[in-house]
Amino acid sequence: MDEKKEKTSMRQFKKIIDALSPCMDDYLYVYDLLNDMYYISPSAVERFMLPSSCFSDVNNTLKAMVYPDDWKLLSNDLSKLFNDPDFNFHNLQYRWMDRNHNPVWISCKGRVIRNEEKIPIALIGCVDEIGTKQRADNISGLLGEAFLREHLETMSETDDGGFLLRFGIDNFKEINENRGFDYGDMILRKTSECINACIKDGQKLYKLSADEFLVLDYSGRHVSEAQNIYNDVVNRINKFIEDNHYEVFFTVSAGIFDLAETSSHDYYELMKLSEFALNEAKNRGKNQFYVYNQKDYDDFKRKKRLVRIMRQSINNGFEGFCTYFQPIIDIKSGRLAHAEALLRFRTEETGLLSPSEFIPLLEESGLIIPIGKWVLTQAIYACGYMQKYLPDFHVSVNLSYIQVLKSNVLSEIVNLMQESGLKKGSIVVELTESGFMETDRNVISFCEGLKQNGIPLALDDFGTGYSNFNYLYNLTPNIIKIDRSFTIKALKNNYEYNLLQYMSDMTHSIDSKFCIEGIETAEELERISRINPDYIQGYYFGRPMPLEEFERSFIQKKAISE
Ligand code: C2E
Ligand code: MG
Ligand code: MG
Repeated sequence: MDEKKEKTSMRQFKKIIDALSPCMDDYLYVYDLLNDMYYISPSAVERFMLPSSCFSDVNNTLKAMVYPDDWKLLSNDLSKLFNDPDFNFHNLQYRWMDRNHNPVWISCKGRVIRNEEKIPIALIGCVDEIGTKQRADNISGLLGEAFLREHLETMSETDDGGFLLRFGIDNFKEINENRGFDYGDMILRKTSECINACIKDGQKLYKLSADEFLVLDYSGRHVSEAQNIYNDVVNRINKFIEDNHYEVFFTVSAGIFDLAETSSHDYYELMKLSEFALNEAKNRGKNQFYVYNQKDYDDFKRKKRLVRIMRQSINNGFEGFCTYFQPIIDIKSGRLAHAEALLRFRTEETGLLSPSEFIPLLEESGLIIPIGKWVLTQAIYACGYMQKYLPDFHVSVNLSYIQVLKSNVLSEIVNLMQESGLKKGSIVVELTESGFMETDRNVISFCEGLKQNGIPLALDDFGTGYSNFNYLYNLTPNIIKIDRSFTIKALKNNYEYNLLQYMSDMTHSIDSKFCIEGIETAEELERISRINPDYIQGYYFGRPMPLEEFERSFIQKKAISE
């Protein structure tokens, strides 16, 4: 082929690609190896990090858009094309980066065109997104996400957008695991039938991923109509379950998004919002619907943001976290006996956050595991430091059930204690009282492990939740701590006051110590002291504070006054 002919045939390829690409989902391409030019279906530019549909400097341009981990794979294959005269077919599965910088799996196939001297002239082929969702679902007989996307994106501003009603089958994974895929498929089919029977003109049902369905209302109906559809679907499903004498049982949740909430027709944005709504319905207990609410979504985003910030902080050497210490006084001697280590988090971006906000987020994200270990090291350091002044000083550390159930926290405590050289029993573990203590095998063996290793256990927030006295005889915690909310009730009402007296007696009957939290005034102290507690913790004696301040308040000042 002479040069002129080659240029002509390249132009023809481009024309063919332009003509065919609107008819297909895949992307056609031609790589002109002699002129280092690449031409791909224009639709690929909307999807991937490509500068334009026609570009030069092919090697570097591809390198910039291929997922970095996969570049070596591609560049090896391309070098074969030049170096191996028998290499005639490029066939590779790897990842390109989409416009949002996310990796997308593609399958790239191409025929190598060589001249008579076997010099490669061009690579011509097709790129297929192998990770894309199925366009239609054979089980439910419904169209899939690709069609929903087209529908949403072609709805114009002037269309009377109604709502998105996104259904999810509750616990579908377990249903599949326990009853098998055929059973799961039957439930999918039935759900699809029930939803289909409840929708009207101007509404269309699509199948989303695994166990989800979405009704798009494009006729401007009010969201209350979406709630009616949900209720009708649930009635139909229940009728089906009843007719089958409860041989089959399942429930569905739904998230409802009013299209009037946004002017965006962006498919990914709408999917994100409807997914949030469905997740809320599930998080609130399943078998219910939830209507999208901007405030809830803002809270959700704030939580996600806080988790991101805290994760960064942890990776930056726990920057922004600090451990405060609150004094616990031995009521008989009136002396400082313990401190409780309490976590704080403050950054410029977030200000000072309350543990009641950030501890649950650390737990949900699993970050409580590294942070909990860090608090433990801080507590051990503080305890050793304070024992220079008070040899019997103890520090209590709060442990989360996540640490107990999902990490090896017992051996961590044992190892850290050994390394520190602290006396056995100097660090007290506080666990919030809950039904877990009696029933969960792992929690029970954790508590036994504490005992075997001489680590005292304090039962925190006693009286707020579970409060089953019976198992205390088996568990015999070293300390039982009463939460401030209960203390306040006891200070106001005789019934709770008498109950507190009873708890104190019972604690002493099992040879445990009784600690009352939340004492703020001298009058409260006077009244509560009559109950005969062993320890008092409260603002009256001191708020949680940094170690240096703790030392100043309880050691240095005292030394001066003595
Ligand atoms: P908690 O373990 O029951 O800690 C006692 C809480 O009562 C502390 O709140 C303390 O500041 C507060 N408090 C003590 N005396 C008084 C008082 O006289 N008046 C008032 N109004 N409050 C008083 P804080 O520090 O906000 O911690 C709240 C909860 O967060 C803790 O309750 C504990 O469950 C959790 N937490 C704190 N630090 C950690 C930690 O390092 N790990 C884990 N897993 N949880 C922690
Ligand atoms: Mg505590
Ligand atoms: Mg407490």
